[in-house]
Amino acid sequence: MTTNATTVPAYAAPAAGAPLERTTIPRRPVGEHDVMIDIKFAGICHSDIHQARDGWGTGIYPMVPGHEIAGIVTEVGPGVTRFEAGDRVGVGCLVDSCRTCDNCAAGLEQYCTGGSVGTYNALGKDGEPTYGGYSSHIVVDERFTVRIPEGIALDEAAPLLCAGITLYSPLRHWKAGPGKKVAVVGLGGLGHMGVKIAHALGAEVTVLSQSLRKEADGLKLGADHYYATSDESVFEELAGTFDLIVSTVSAPLPLDRYLGLLRTDGAFVNVGAPEEPVSLNLFSVIGGRKTLAGSGIGGLPETQEMLDFCAEHGLGAEIEVISADRINEAYERVLASDVRYRFVIDTSTI
Ligand code: NAP
Ligand code: ZN
Ligand code: ZN
Repeated sequence: MTTNATTVPAYAAPAAGAPLERTTIPRRPVGEHDVMIDIKFAGICHSDIHQARDGWGTGIYPMVPGHEIAGIVTEVGPGVTRFEAGDRVGVGCLVDSCRTCDNCAAGLEQYCTGGSVGTYNALGKDGEPTYGGYSSHIVVDERFTVRIPEGIALDEAAPLLCAGITLYSPLRHWKAGPGKKVAVVGLGGLGHMGVKIAHALGAEVTVLSQSLRKEADGLKLGADHYYATSDESVFEELAGTFDLIVSTVSAPLPLDRYLGLLRTDGAFVNVGAPEEPVSLNLFSVIGGRKTLAGSGIGGLPETQEMLDFCAEHGLGAEIEVISADRINEAYERVLASDVRYRFVIDTSTI
Protein backbone atom coordinates (compact mmCIF):
# COMPACT_ATOMS: atom_id res chain seq x y z
CA MET A 1 0.00 0.00 0.00
CA THR A 2 1.30 3.46 -0.86
CA THR A 3 1.74 5.25 2.44
CA ASN A 4 3.15 8.43 0.96
CA ALA A 5 1.62 10.83 -1.51
CA THR A 6 3.01 10.29 -4.99
CA THR A 7 3.75 12.83 -7.67
CA VAL A 8 2.42 12.03 -11.13
CA PRO A 9 2.50 13.73 -14.53
CA ALA A 10 -0.64 15.52 -15.69
CA TYR A 11 -1.98 18.11 -18.15
CA ALA A 12 -3.41 21.20 -16.49
CA ALA A 13 -4.92 24.57 -17.34
CA PRO A 14 -2.72 26.87 -15.21
CA ALA A 15 -5.34 29.65 -15.28
CA ALA A 16 -8.82 30.24 -16.70
CA GLY A 17 -8.70 29.97 -20.48
CA ALA A 18 -4.96 29.31 -20.64
CA PRO A 19 -3.82 26.45 -22.89
CA LEU A 20 -3.32 23.17 -21.07
CA GLU A 21 0.29 22.21 -20.42
CA ARG A 22 2.26 19.38 -18.90
CA THR A 23 2.83 19.55 -15.15
CA THR A 24 3.00 17.29 -12.11
CA ILE A 25 0.40 16.84 -9.36
CA PRO A 26 0.23 15.00 -6.03
CA ARG A 27 -1.92 11.90 -5.53
CA ARG A 28 -2.83 10.97 -1.98
CA PRO A 29 -1.53 7.79 -0.35
CA VAL A 30 -3.71 4.72 -0.99
CA GLY A 31 -6.06 4.70 2.02
CA GLU A 32 -8.02 1.90 3.67
CA HIS A 33 -10.79 1.84 1.03
CA ASP A 34 -8.86 3.30 -1.93
CA VAL A 35 -7.71 1.88 -5.21
CA MET A 36 -4.75 3.24 -7.17
CA ILE A 37 -5.55 3.27 -10.88
CA ASP A 38 -3.07 3.32 -13.74
CA ILE A 39 -5.09 5.52 -16.10
CA LYS A 40 -4.93 4.24 -19.68
CA PHE A 41 -7.41 6.56 -21.40
CA ALA A 42 -9.26 9.76 -20.54
CA GLY A 43 -12.10 11.15 -22.65
CA ILE A 44 -12.46 14.86 -23.41
CA CYS A 45 -15.94 16.02 -22.39
CA HIS A 46 -17.29 19.42 -23.40
CA SER A 47 -17.64 20.05 -19.65
CA ASP A 48 -13.83 19.97 -19.46
CA ILE A 49 -13.74 22.90 -21.86
CA HIS A 50 -16.49 24.87 -20.07
CA GLN A 51 -14.55 24.49 -16.81
CA ALA A 52 -10.98 24.95 -18.09
CA ARG A 53 -12.17 28.25 -19.56
CA ASP A 54 -14.22 29.09 -16.46
CA GLY A 55 -17.43 29.27 -18.49
CA TRP A 56 -19.46 28.14 -15.48
CA GLY A 57 -17.62 30.56 -13.17
CA THR A 58 -16.51 27.91 -10.68
CA GLY A 59 -12.93 27.26 -11.74
CA ILE A 60 -10.14 26.22 -9.37
CA TYR A 61 -6.66 26.51 -10.96
CA PRO A 62 -4.40 24.87 -11.86
CA MET A 63 -7.11 22.54 -13.16
CA VAL A 64 -6.53 18.99 -14.37
CA PRO A 65 -9.73 18.09 -16.20
CA GLY A 66 -10.94 14.61 -17.09
CA HIS A 67 -13.90 12.65 -15.73
CA GLU A 68 -14.05 9.87 -18.28
CA ILE A 69 -11.36 7.63 -16.86
CA ALA A 70 -10.54 4.05 -17.85
CA GLY A 71 -7.60 2.13 -16.46
CA ILE A 72 -6.21 -0.76 -14.48
CA VAL A 73 -6.03 -1.14 -10.71
CA THR A 74 -2.43 -1.32 -9.52
CA GLU A 75 -2.87 -1.26 -5.74
CA VAL A 76 -5.70 -1.61 -3.25
CA GLY A 77 -6.06 -0.53 0.37
CA PRO A 78 -6.55 -3.19 3.07
CA GLY A 79 -10.30 -2.50 3.39
CA VAL A 80 -11.05 -2.84 -0.34
CA THR A 81 -13.41 -5.73 -1.07
CA ARG A 82 -14.57 -5.31 -4.66
CA PHE A 83 -11.34 -4.83 -6.60
CA GLU A 84 -7.86 -6.22 -6.89
CA ALA A 85 -4.72 -5.35 -8.81
CA GLY A 86 -5.19 -5.99 -12.52
CA ASP A 87 -8.92 -5.18 -12.62
CA ARG A 88 -10.27 -3.02 -15.48
CA VAL A 89 -12.02 -0.05 -13.91
CA GLY A 90 -13.56 3.32 -14.61
CA VAL A 91 -14.10 6.57 -12.75
CA GLY A 92 -16.66 9.14 -13.83
CA CYS A 93 -17.62 12.60 -12.60
CA LEU A 94 -17.72 11.86 -8.86
CA VAL A 95 -15.05 10.70 -6.41
CA ASP A 96 -16.96 11.22 -3.15
CA SER A 97 -20.29 12.26 -1.63
CA CYS A 98 -21.84 12.54 1.82
CA ARG A 99 -22.92 8.88 1.57
CA THR A 100 -25.76 9.35 4.07
CA CYS A 101 -28.42 11.59 2.50
CA ASP A 102 -31.53 10.08 0.92
CA ASN A 103 -30.08 10.42 -2.56
CA CYS A 104 -26.79 8.75 -1.65
CA ALA A 105 -28.73 5.96 0.04
CA ALA A 106 -30.74 5.53 -3.17
CA GLY A 107 -27.63 5.37 -5.36
CA LEU A 108 -28.28 8.86 -6.73
CA GLU A 109 -24.94 10.24 -5.58
CA GLN A 110 -25.05 12.82 -8.37
CA TYR A 111 -27.88 14.55 -6.49
CA CYS A 112 -26.22 14.27 -3.07
CA THR A 113 -27.59 16.98 -0.80
CA GLY A 114 -24.79 16.67 1.73
CA GLY A 115 -21.99 17.62 -0.66
CA SER A 116 -20.66 15.45 -3.48
CA VAL A 117 -17.07 15.81 -4.68
CA GLY A 118 -16.30 16.16 -8.38
CA THR A 119 -13.43 14.20 -9.91
CA TYR A 120 -11.74 17.53 -10.67
CA ASN A 121 -12.33 21.21 -10.07
CA ALA A 122 -13.59 20.46 -6.56
CA LEU A 123 -12.28 20.26 -3.03
CA GLY A 124 -12.10 16.80 -1.44
CA LYS A 125 -13.19 16.16 2.11
CA ASP A 126 -9.51 16.68 3.04
CA GLY A 127 -9.79 20.23 1.69
CA GLU A 128 -7.36 19.53 -1.14
CA PRO A 129 -8.29 20.21 -4.79
CA THR A 130 -9.25 17.16 -6.82
CA TYR A 131 -7.43 16.51 -10.07
CA GLY A 132 -8.97 14.56 -12.94
CA GLY A 133 -8.08 12.02 -15.55
CA TYR A 134 -5.62 13.91 -17.75
CA SER A 135 -2.86 12.26 -15.71
CA SER A 136 -1.11 8.92 -15.35
CA HIS A 137 -2.65 7.71 -12.06
CA ILE A 138 -5.50 8.48 -9.71
CA VAL A 139 -6.38 7.30 -6.19
CA VAL A 140 -10.14 6.81 -5.67
CA ASP A 141 -12.35 5.25 -3.01
CA GLU A 142 -13.67 1.92 -4.29
CA ARG A 143 -17.25 3.14 -3.74
CA PHE A 144 -16.72 5.58 -6.61
CA THR A 145 -14.99 3.07 -8.87
CA VAL A 146 -16.85 0.91 -11.39
CA ARG A 147 -15.91 -2.23 -13.26
CA ILE A 148 -15.40 -2.10 -17.02
CA PRO A 149 -16.65 -5.38 -18.50
CA GLU A 150 -14.21 -7.39 -20.64
CA GLY A 151 -16.37 -6.86 -23.72
CA ILE A 152 -15.55 -3.14 -24.06
CA ALA A 153 -12.10 -1.89 -25.06
CA LEU A 154 -10.73 0.56 -22.50
CA ASP A 155 -10.39 3.43 -24.98
CA GLU A 156 -13.99 3.04 -26.18
CA ALA A 157 -15.18 2.62 -22.59
CA ALA A 158 -13.70 5.84 -21.22
CA PRO A 159 -16.39 8.16 -22.70
CA LEU A 160 -19.13 5.98 -21.24
CA LEU A 161 -18.17 7.21 -17.76
CA CYS A 162 -19.72 10.60 -18.51
CA ALA A 163 -21.25 10.72 -22.00
CA GLY A 164 -22.67 7.21 -21.70
CA ILE A 165 -24.25 7.54 -18.27
CA THR A 166 -25.51 11.08 -18.90
CA LEU A 167 -27.71 9.74 -21.71
CA TYR A 168 -28.46 6.30 -20.27
CA SER A 169 -29.93 7.74 -17.08
CA PRO A 170 -32.63 9.98 -18.63
CA LEU A 171 -33.40 7.48 -21.40
CA ARG A 172 -34.15 4.87 -18.73
CA HIS A 173 -35.93 7.29 -16.39
CA TRP A 174 -38.27 8.54 -19.14
CA LYS A 175 -38.68 4.97 -20.43
CA ALA A 176 -37.22 5.13 -23.92
CA GLY A 177 -38.09 1.81 -25.52
CA PRO A 178 -40.27 0.06 -28.11
CA GLY A 179 -43.13 2.26 -29.32
CA LYS A 180 -41.47 5.46 -28.10
CA LYS A 181 -40.29 8.22 -30.42
CA VAL A 182 -37.09 9.71 -29.05
CA ALA A 183 -35.16 12.66 -30.45
CA VAL A 184 -31.55 13.41 -29.58
CA VAL A 185 -30.52 17.02 -30.16
CA GLY A 186 -26.83 17.50 -31.05
CA LEU A 187 -24.68 14.69 -32.42
CA GLY A 188 -21.51 15.15 -30.38
CA GLY A 189 -19.97 13.12 -27.58
CA LEU A 190 -23.14 12.80 -25.52
CA GLY A 191 -25.50 12.76 -28.47
CA HIS A 192 -23.87 9.88 -30.31
CA MET A 193 -24.06 7.72 -27.18
CA GLY A 194 -27.70 8.76 -26.82
CA VAL A 195 -28.44 7.49 -30.32
CA LYS A 196 -26.69 4.17 -29.69
CA ILE A 197 -28.34 3.59 -26.31
CA ALA A 198 -31.85 4.71 -27.33
CA HIS A 199 -31.62 2.42 -30.37
CA ALA A 200 -30.44 -0.49 -28.21
CA LEU A 201 -33.38 0.17 -25.87
CA GLY A 202 -35.71 -0.30 -28.84
CA ALA A 203 -36.92 3.29 -29.34
CA GLU A 204 -37.50 4.95 -32.71
CA VAL A 205 -34.63 7.44 -32.78
CA THR A 206 -34.37 10.79 -34.55
CA VAL A 207 -31.29 13.00 -34.61
CA LEU A 208 -31.85 16.75 -34.65
CA SER A 209 -28.51 18.22 -35.71
CA GLN A 210 -27.61 21.67 -36.94
CA SER A 211 -26.83 20.32 -40.41
CA LEU A 212 -26.95 17.12 -42.46
CA ARG A 213 -23.13 16.87 -42.38
CA LYS A 214 -23.18 13.85 -40.07
CA GLU A 215 -26.35 12.21 -41.40
CA ALA A 216 -24.66 9.03 -42.70
CA ASP A 217 -22.92 8.55 -39.35
CA GLY A 218 -26.11 9.14 -37.40
CA LEU A 219 -28.01 6.51 -39.35
CA LYS A 220 -25.13 4.06 -38.91
CA LEU A 221 -25.09 4.70 -35.16
CA GLY A 222 -28.73 3.58 -34.99
CA ALA A 223 -30.90 6.61 -35.81
CA ASP A 224 -34.03 5.97 -37.85
CA HIS A 225 -34.39 9.60 -38.98
CA TYR A 226 -32.09 12.60 -39.23
CA TYR A 227 -33.03 16.26 -39.63
CA ALA A 228 -31.15 19.53 -39.90
CA THR A 229 -32.56 22.15 -37.52
CA SER A 230 -31.12 24.90 -39.74
CA ASP A 231 -34.06 24.07 -42.01
CA GLU A 232 -36.94 26.02 -40.43
CA SER A 233 -39.58 23.78 -42.00
CA VAL A 234 -38.43 20.88 -39.82
CA PHE A 235 -40.15 22.46 -36.82
CA GLU A 236 -43.47 22.44 -38.67
CA GLU A 237 -43.01 19.00 -40.17
CA LEU A 238 -42.16 17.39 -36.82
CA ALA A 239 -44.54 19.37 -34.60
CA GLY A 240 -46.20 17.13 -31.99
CA THR A 241 -44.06 14.08 -32.83
CA PHE A 242 -41.86 13.02 -29.92
CA ASP A 243 -42.48 11.31 -26.59
CA LEU A 244 -39.03 12.32 -25.41
CA ILE A 245 -36.44 14.82 -26.57
CA VAL A 246 -33.01 14.83 -24.95
CA SER A 247 -30.94 17.92 -25.68
CA THR A 248 -27.17 17.59 -25.43
CA VAL A 249 -26.51 21.04 -26.85
CA SER A 250 -23.72 23.01 -25.19
CA ALA A 251 -25.19 26.40 -26.19
CA PRO A 252 -28.56 28.05 -25.43
CA LEU A 253 -31.38 26.66 -27.58
CA PRO A 254 -34.71 28.26 -28.54
CA LEU A 255 -36.62 26.02 -26.14
CA ASP A 256 -40.11 27.02 -27.25
CA ARG A 257 -39.48 25.71 -30.74
CA TYR A 258 -38.24 22.35 -29.44
CA LEU A 259 -41.12 22.01 -26.96
CA GLY A 260 -43.41 22.33 -29.97
CA LEU A 261 -41.99 19.03 -31.26
CA LEU A 262 -43.38 17.09 -28.27
CA ARG A 263 -46.66 15.23 -28.36
CA THR A 264 -49.11 15.50 -25.44
CA ASP A 265 -47.44 14.46 -22.16
CA GLY A 266 -44.04 14.43 -23.86
CA ALA A 267 -40.86 15.43 -22.05
CA PHE A 268 -37.97 17.62 -23.10
CA VAL A 269 -34.98 16.66 -20.99
CA ASN A 270 -32.01 18.94 -21.03
CA VAL A 271 -28.54 17.59 -20.29
CA GLY A 272 -26.50 20.26 -22.12
CA ALA A 273 -24.91 22.80 -19.78
CA PRO A 274 -24.68 26.13 -21.64
CA GLU A 275 -22.81 29.00 -20.05
CA GLU A 276 -25.72 31.42 -20.55
CA PRO A 277 -29.34 31.29 -19.37
CA VAL A 278 -32.15 30.52 -21.80
CA SER A 279 -35.57 32.10 -22.16
CA LEU A 280 -38.86 30.23 -22.05
CA ASN A 281 -42.45 31.08 -22.85
CA LEU A 282 -44.41 29.05 -20.31
CA PHE A 283 -47.28 28.60 -22.75
CA SER A 284 -44.96 26.12 -24.47
CA VAL A 285 -45.51 23.61 -21.67
CA ILE A 286 -49.13 24.44 -20.80
CA GLY A 287 -50.60 23.25 -24.08
CA GLY A 288 -50.12 19.48 -24.23
CA ARG A 289 -49.22 19.07 -20.52
CA LYS A 290 -45.54 18.93 -21.41
CA THR A 291 -42.60 18.35 -19.12
CA LEU A 292 -39.39 20.36 -19.21
CA ALA A 293 -36.76 18.60 -17.14
CA GLY A 294 -33.05 18.27 -16.60
CA SER A 295 -30.80 15.35 -15.76
CA GLY A 296 -27.27 15.08 -14.41
CA ILE A 297 -24.86 12.20 -15.09
CA GLY A 298 -25.93 9.15 -13.04
CA GLY A 299 -25.27 7.47 -9.71
CA LEU A 300 -22.75 4.72 -9.11
CA PRO A 301 -25.15 1.74 -9.35
CA GLU A 302 -26.68 3.06 -12.56
CA THR A 303 -23.23 3.74 -14.01
CA GLN A 304 -22.32 0.08 -13.46
CA GLU A 305 -25.68 -0.95 -14.96
CA MET A 306 -24.96 1.24 -18.01
CA LEU A 307 -21.50 -0.33 -18.53
CA ASP A 308 -22.98 -3.82 -18.30
CA PHE A 309 -25.76 -2.81 -20.73
CA CYS A 310 -23.21 -1.41 -23.19
CA ALA A 311 -21.10 -4.58 -22.96
CA GLU A 312 -24.16 -6.75 -23.52
CA HIS A 313 -25.19 -4.73 -26.58
CA GLY A 314 -21.65 -4.28 -27.95
CA LEU A 315 -21.74 -0.51 -27.46
CA GLY A 316 -18.64 1.63 -27.06
CA ALA A 317 -17.97 5.23 -27.98
CA GLU A 318 -16.81 6.27 -31.46
CA ILE A 319 -13.45 7.76 -30.66
CA GLU A 320 -10.40 9.53 -31.98
CA VAL A 321 -7.43 8.67 -29.76
CA ILE A 322 -4.98 11.54 -29.42
CA SER A 323 -1.67 12.18 -27.68
CA ALA A 324 -1.71 14.66 -24.80
CA ASP A 325 0.10 17.35 -26.79
CA ARG A 326 -3.03 17.62 -28.97
CA ILE A 327 -5.47 18.42 -26.15
CA ASN A 328 -5.67 22.14 -26.95
CA GLU A 329 -6.27 21.44 -30.63
CA ALA A 330 -8.94 18.89 -29.69
CA TYR A 331 -10.69 21.53 -27.56
CA GLU A 332 -10.92 23.85 -30.57
CA ARG A 333 -12.33 21.06 -32.70
CA VAL A 334 -14.97 20.19 -30.08
CA LEU A 335 -16.00 23.87 -29.95
CA ALA A 336 -16.37 23.82 -33.75
CA SER A 337 -18.61 20.66 -33.54
CA ASP A 338 -15.77 18.91 -35.40
CA VAL A 339 -15.54 15.76 -33.31
CA ARG A 340 -16.47 12.23 -34.38
CA TYR A 341 -17.47 11.60 -31.71
CA ARG A 342 -15.20 11.75 -28.69
CA PHE A 343 -11.53 12.62 -28.33
CA VAL A 344 -9.79 10.23 -25.98
CA ILE A 345 -6.34 10.94 -24.60
CA ASP A 346 -3.82 8.11 -24.59
CA THR A 347 -2.51 8.95 -21.13
CA SER A 348 0.80 7.13 -21.72
CA THR A 349 1.73 10.24 -23.75
CA ILE A 350 1.34 12.66 -20.81
P1 NAP B 1 -20.09 18.14 -27.86
O1 NAP B 1 -19.37 16.87 -28.20
O2 NAP B 1 -19.49 19.44 -28.22
O3 NAP B 1 -21.58 18.00 -28.46
C1 NAP B 1 -22.51 19.04 -28.41
C2 NAP B 1 -23.26 19.07 -29.74
O4 NAP B 1 -24.25 20.09 -29.65
C3 NAP B 1 -22.42 19.45 -30.92
O5 NAP B 1 -21.75 18.35 -31.48
C4 NAP B 1 -23.45 20.01 -31.86
O6 NAP B 1 -24.10 18.93 -32.53
C5 NAP B 1 -24.47 20.65 -30.94
N1 NAP B 1 -24.29 22.10 -30.85
C6 NAP B 1 -23.17 22.78 -30.47
N2 NAP B 1 -23.40 24.11 -30.51
C7 NAP B 1 -24.68 24.28 -30.91
C8 NAP B 1 -25.50 25.41 -31.13
N3 NAP B 1 -25.04 26.65 -30.96
N4 NAP B 1 -26.78 25.20 -31.53
C9 NAP B 1 -27.25 23.94 -31.74
N5 NAP B 1 -26.51 22.84 -31.54
C10 NAP B 1 -25.24 23.01 -31.13
O7 NAP B 1 -20.32 18.21 -26.29
P2 NAP B 1 -20.65 17.05 -25.23
O8 NAP B 1 -19.38 16.62 -24.58
O9 NAP B 1 -21.54 16.07 -25.87
O10 NAP B 1 -21.43 17.89 -24.11
C11 NAP B 1 -22.63 18.58 -24.45
C12 NAP B 1 -23.09 19.46 -23.32
O11 NAP B 1 -23.51 18.63 -22.23
C13 NAP B 1 -22.01 20.38 -22.73
O12 NAP B 1 -22.61 21.62 -22.39
C14 NAP B 1 -21.57 19.64 -21.48
O13 NAP B 1 -21.02 20.49 -20.50
C15 NAP B 1 -22.88 19.06 -21.03
N6 NAP B 1 -22.80 17.90 -20.15
C16 NAP B 1 -23.78 17.76 -19.21
C17 NAP B 1 -23.79 16.65 -18.40
C18 NAP B 1 -24.90 16.44 -17.42
O14 NAP B 1 -24.72 15.67 -16.47
N7 NAP B 1 -26.04 17.06 -17.59
C19 NAP B 1 -22.78 15.68 -18.50
C20 NAP B 1 -21.81 15.86 -19.49
C21 NAP B 1 -21.82 16.97 -20.31
P3 NAP B 1 -24.51 19.04 -34.10
O15 NAP B 1 -23.23 19.32 -34.82
O16 NAP B 1 -25.07 17.70 -34.37
O17 NAP B 1 -25.51 20.13 -34.22
ZN1 ZN C 1 -18.59 15.09 -18.79
ZN1 ZN D 1 -25.33 12.49 -0.06
